[in-house]
This record gives sequence, C-alpha cells and structure tokens, in this order.
Amino acid sequence: MPVFRRRVVALLISLLFAVPLRAPGKEQPRFILENAHLRAEFDRQGRLLKLIDLTTGWEIQRRPELARSFQMFAAPPGRRFNPVFGAEQKPPQVVFDRRGQTLIFHWSGLKSRFGGTLPVDFRSRVALTGKGLAFRASLRNKSKATIETVRWPILGDLSVPRGTRSFAQLGMEYGGMVRLELFPKFDNQPGYFGVDYPTQFLKTPYSPFSLVAANSQGLYVGCHDTTLQQLVEFSAQLRPGYVSYEYWDKGVNPTTDTLSGKPVHLQFEVIHFPFAAPGDSVTIGPVVLQPYQGDWHAGADVYRQWRKSWLRPARKPAWLRKVLSWQQIHMNNPEGDVRYRYRDLVTIAKDCARYGVGAIQVTGWTLGGQDSQNPSHNTDPRLGTWQELRDAIARVQRLGVKVVLFAKFTWADRTTAWYRNELVRYATKDPYGDPHVYPGYAYQTATQLADINTHRFVPLCPLCPEWRAVATKEFLKTVALGADGILYDENQHHGGVYYCFDPSHGHHVPANVFAGDALLARGFHKAATEAGRPDFFFGGEGNYDFQFEEYHLSYFRVDLNHVPIHR
Ligand SMILES: [Zn+2]
Repeated sequence: MPVFRRRVVALLISLLFAVPLRAPGKEQPRFILENAHLRAEFDRQGRLLKLIDLTTGWEIQRRPELARSFQMFAAPPGRRFNPVFGAEQKPPQVVFDRRGQTLIFHWSGLKSRFGGTLPVDFRSRVALTGKGLAFRASLRNKSKATIETVRWPILGDLSVPRGTRSFAQLGMEYGGMVRLELFPKFDNQPGYFGVDYPTQFLKTPYSPFSLVAANSQGLYVGCHDTTLQQLVEFSAQLRPGYVSYEYWDKGVNPTTDTLSGKPVHLQFEVIHFPFAAPGDSVTIGPVVLQPYQGDWHAGADVYRQWRKSWLRPARKPAWLRKVLSWQQIHMNNPEGDVRYRYRDLVTIAKDCARYGVGAIQVTGWTLGGQDSQNPSHNTDPRLGTWQELRDAIARVQRLGVKVVLFAKFTWADRTTAWYRNELVRYATKDPYGDPHVYPGYAYQTATQLADINTHRFVPLCPLCPEWRAVATKEFLKTVALGADGILYDENQHHGGVYYCFDPSHGHHVPANVFAGDALLARGFHKAATEAGRPDFFFGGEGNYDFQFEEYHLSYFRVDLNHVPIHR
C-alpha cells in the first residue's frame, strides 16, 4: 500500500492557508470550484451540495439537502456492521485554494456508529482540472478496526436531465458494453432481501469507468488508478424504492420529488475497498468526474484520452497482422471424448493452408482434456506423445500455418492429487481461511451435464510468488513444444474472486488478486525471451483493458446487441 509521506508538508500548508471558518449554523460557508465547464459547491462537512454542467445547464447534483459527504465501514474486532458518516463528524480542517482550484478536508478522529471514535486520519482533496473534478484521499488507520470500504465521492441526488427518456450507467464488460438502467426503470442487482434500496454496481477492472448517460449528454466517472490494488465500484441506488415492481431485478421509478413524504432520489457512489488494517496508510483514487456532451462515444473518449496517457500496448509479433482468420480445434474433454490425435493437426493444417486460414488454436491438448487436470500443460498419452505433438507443430508451421496452444493458469482442478498435496497452498482464500471454489464446466455425458461429476476449480493467487514460479514452469512447456504462442483462456477473471486473505502468500491481507495479473504475464514474457522466443504470441480471452499492456490480442464472443465500447 502506498505510504502516507507528505503529512508534515501538508500540515504546514494547511497552517498557511487554512480558511477561517465560522461556527456551524445557518451561515455555513460554501466552497465553490468553478471554471467555464463545471461548478461544484461543497459545505464544510465535505458534502457535495451542487454539481452543475455549465455547458448544458444540467444540475448533476441537484438538491443540497440530499448532499452527502464520505461514508466508511470500519469493522472493529468482533463487529461487522459499523458505518462512519462524514456528515456526523466534527467539522474537518478545510484548506481552500481558490486560485489553485483545490479544496482539502482533513478529519482527525472519526466517530463511528457502534465502535466509538476511531483514531483515523482521513484527508481528501478535490481539484478542478480542465473539464473535470478529481477526487483523491489518503487514510491513516491508527485504530483497531479495519477500514474495509470508503465511499467517496457521493452524489446524493443524481438528477435526470430535463427531457431525458433514457438514463443509464454504461460500462465495459466481457468484449462489449454493459448497460444498467437508471430511469425510467431501475435495474437492481443484489437480492431484495440484502439491501434497503434497489442497487446496482459496475466493477473495476472490467469497467474502469461509468458513463452516467442521458440521450445526448452524460457524466464520465473514471477510476484513474492503474495499480489495481483496490476493487472500485460505481454504484447507484434508487431511494426510497420502486413505485411499481416488475420483479426483484427491475421496477419503475417514481417521477415525483417525494413519495409518501420521503424524497425520491438516485444516490450515486464510488465505493473503494482499501481494507486498511490497523497501522495501515492507504490512498484512495483518483476518481474523475467529467460531464460530456454527445452520446456514449463522447463519454468513452474521455476514458480513451486518459488511457492514452499511460497505457503502452504490448508489441505484437509481425505475423499477427497478416493472419485474418484462424480455426479452433477441440481435441479432448474431461470425459475423455478424444476427437483428434496430435498427428491429425497436420491434415487440418493442409486444409487451412489451402483456404487461407492462418492459424490453428489447439484446445484440449493437455493432460485430461479441456477443463481437467489444471494447471497441467503436459501432453495426454491418449492423443499421442510429446514428440508427436512437437513434430506435428513443426510440420504445420512448414505449411505456413501458425500454432496457438490453449493455456490456462486461472485455477487448479480440485479433483487432483497435485491440488491436494501442493496447489491448495497457492489457492486464493476467503476471510475464513477456506479456498474459493468455482463450479467448473460440464461436457458431453448426461452425468456431467447433470453436474454430478463436474470437476470443481479452485482459483490460484497470482500475487503468490511460489504459484507464479509453478505457473511459469507450466507455461514454458508450451514454448518447448515450439508453438507460436498461447491463448490464455479465462485470463480476465478469477472465478468471481477479488480479494485473497491467505497470510502465507507474501501480500497484504487481504489483497486484490487482479493486481497480480500483470506480474504473472510479465514473468511469462521474461521466461519466453530467456528461452529465445521474444516474439512469442500472447492472446487472452475477453481481456480487461489494462491487460493489453501484456496481451497482444483478445478473443471474445458477441451477441446481437453487442456495442463495441472497447474500440
Ligand atoms: Zn493470495
């Protein structure tokens, strides 16, 4: 976790520029950050009272009485539910630099609902930068509680622009756009039994941003943190709830300002998961709010501009640009339905060469067939010998066809002795010490399709150096076979896991396992280069955007409603 370094300097600056504030009351000062594009008003509790797009006049945050400051959940030993509300704290020290367009709130000691006052320093900084508003924060936890989540910033009254027929959160997911409706109907994701209000989320790293989009304008909310050390969610709630209900996942919004005397509003929150343990110092953000005019393309362009400032795409092997189509061959599955032997690849390649198919992607070539015996990248005797596969690959290549071997380092097959004797140590663990489990995939036989004998998978932690060493050894087996590259299937997820709590893995407890994806891939690049194959091809499945620093290509499926937001 980043270290809280500039505290002394910050304190000195605040002594120099601290704004003298009046006692709380009716005449509370407002702090206004404004330029030609945007106006943001805060009160001295850090509540975002107003946010206005000055180009279109859209009052993004409309009613000041519904404004919110930050919110945290601080779990002391033995108690899970312990919220901390920014608006319930003693007024923070405020540093307002009107000329520099920055505003800093510094809380020392935080009153929690059920855990008393916690010795926690929370310092948040808001800066107007060009067309956007950037939020950063740092947190120093001297309490015995773990600060699990921080909600900041919060739009307490996200308003629907006048005349809007359709209002939604748009983001990125597997190969396309995800759309969560905000108005006139609201999509609810968690069960009705687990939340007080209909609630929805977009998650990093799949979607590094949310576009809060109306017909011809919107608000870009981006998480501009490239470390992936924390899960960040873009969340919306419909309060107090539906006016009519379709099912638990959808209902109709009220169109009045109040319902049964309660205010009707959309609350939008950026939720960070720092899991700051006692003694930890962490940073939050930056999160950028920037209105845009136009459709989703204009919103995505805000993200693209930021991405261009840092992302360096992996240099592609030259041949990749010439291959316009390739064929995937499925050789075997976990039920032992052997469809091809290694030597059959040559016959297939002759057809490929004749009809201009430039590459074969070989799936199910590993021991046990596809989705079995993971993460073994040994050959399977039922398909032929290691030498037969190596020879077949060389003959395919002589026909002018490339060979891409299907590979997977996401998890271990739980049915194997290897898992039970060794790999369980590298498994991601939940807060209770148990390995996470993924349900697996069923093939062909009625028994497996009834999910009776499906192989269950256990995600492996890429932040664990011992596992990365084992994975690299397995990866090098694909290099030794002489393949042109790999297609790392399911490289973009961890079976629904975000945080690993295993204290023996050498990472912070817990740690966001997505932060290990680049470490694993960089290790593979290094090993391939040392093996004399710097041009080895790396394909991934439905890569999340940051993975293009390591992977040359993404393969994914699309449906009829596909929207190419990854452009
Ligand atoms: Zn771990």
